[in-house]
Amino acid sequence: MRTSDRDTIVAVATAPGEAAIGLIRMSGPESVQVASGCFRGRVRLEDAGDRKLLLGFFVVEGQDLDQVLASVMRAPGSYTGQDMVEFNCHGGPLLLRRAVRALVGAGARLAERGEFTKRAFLNGKMDLSQAEAVAAMISARSDLGLSSAFFQLRGGLRRQFEGMAERLREALVLLEAGLDFSDDVEIDFGIVRQQIDLVLARVGGLVRSYQMGKVMREGALVTLAGRPNVGKSSLLNRFLEEERAIVTDIPGTTRDTIEESVNLDGIAVTLVDTAGIRQSGDAVEMAGTRRSQQFIDVAERVLLVVDGARPPVQEDFSVLGVLDRSQGFLVVNKVDLGVHEAWDRVTVNADSVRVSAKTGEGIERLRMRLRGSLLGGVGVSGDVVTHERHLIALRGAQRALFQAVEGLSEAVPAELVAMECRLALDALSGIVGETTADDILDRIFGSFCIGK
Ligand code: GDP
Repeated sequence: MRTSDRDTIVAVATAPGEAAIGLIRMSGPESVQVASGCFRGRVRLEDAGDRKLLLGFFVVEGQDLDQVLASVMRAPGSYTGQDMVEFNCHGGPLLLRRAVRALVGAGARLAERGEFTKRAFLNGKMDLSQAEAVAAMISARSDLGLSSAFFQLRGGLRRQFEGMAERLREALVLLEAGLDFSDDVEIDFGIVRQQIDLVLARVGGLVRSYQMGKVMREGALVTLAGRPNVGKSSLLNRFLEEERAIVTDIPGTTRDTIEESVNLDGIAVTLVDTAGIRQSGDAVEMAGTRRSQQFIDVAERVLLVVDGARPPVQEDFSVLGVLDRSQGFLVVNKVDLGVHEAWDRVTVNADSVRVSAKTGEGIERLRMRLRGSLLGGVGVSGDVVTHERHLIALRGAQRALFQAVEGLSEAVPAELVAMECRLALDALSGIVGETTADDILDRIFGSFCIGK
């Protein structure tokens, strides 16, 4: 991004297209002066009160173009930390283009992507995690995605970082004091270890929360697997509460996969009904079976559906072998017909829930258990990591701290432990942008929309 922070920048901040209102925003030391030449009102923009709305006209070459509301937000109390002017115009594309062109003619230049927020970051109005949260607020697709973005916007991640950084600095002070005055000062390795453990616990929690964050942003893929006729389509229909899949009594009729999206209280879940893990010579069904295996491989969760009214057979569990505990859910269906006693003795390497797709019994519990497990046991307060960049930083810190702990238990020289603590601190600093290279900043702000 080749820019000067002193330029006066201008952009339409509202989405393109016809709308009731179109917002033009400007930022930079000259923005009031530049805007003033295009505004005619009872009060000049130079004399406007801070953050007050002024009714007037947007003027282009002596002609009134539109009736507008203008506001001036002066440094340092504005979004970017610089003087800013905003015009609320009517939201016509031609009108907004002409107004922006007039402002450019008067000395402003078009803003680049994310340039307003980049200035806010460079002027210390927000840290990098907050700047990223601005983009996340705009692109959020779910309630949870929105609340975690807002948590981050309000500095939630920054506070987490500060808590961890403080402990690491304390550990470093102890280690370095011992190094500087090594003859008189004994390093209390117990306290150093305690601080590192606390940071590791918090880093670990944040890393785990990433899984939840990913589910919040992108939703989750949940695959229904099981023998034919156990009730997979019926269960999918139950979830959808509408008849989409064809329910029949002939085994193997759900040949291909059927995908449907459901909203599990704020989490977008794509449910895939597979053709079943059944050995068959039928070519169509074999293709379906291969596809269902692929879905199982990429699914966040697999609901292994079995017919609870009949005794278990080996085929019921063929899919369980490829699942790990955290991925699988055993759904014992058809409980309205009574559960065969043999199921009481079945212990599987997965959670299990008893339901009836027919009557709806147990479905709410399944929904809640599924939702809970997708969220990885993390609270829904929004206290989560949602950016891969943050995850990478946290993993980096985690690796360094594991090394530090190992070093402490093997009594390696304190310098080496201190070095790992410093590496961890550096990695964490990247989250808030204290040690972030320009090209990374460019990449982050380059992904924003114009006008943000
Ligand atoms: P799929 O082949 O696994 O998709 O199974 P289907 O959903 O097509 O169901 C097979 C048969 O089992 C149908 O006749 C359903 O009506 C019946 N069925 C499914 N779930 C239940 C249930 O919970 N209780 C009872 N009694 N029948 C069910």
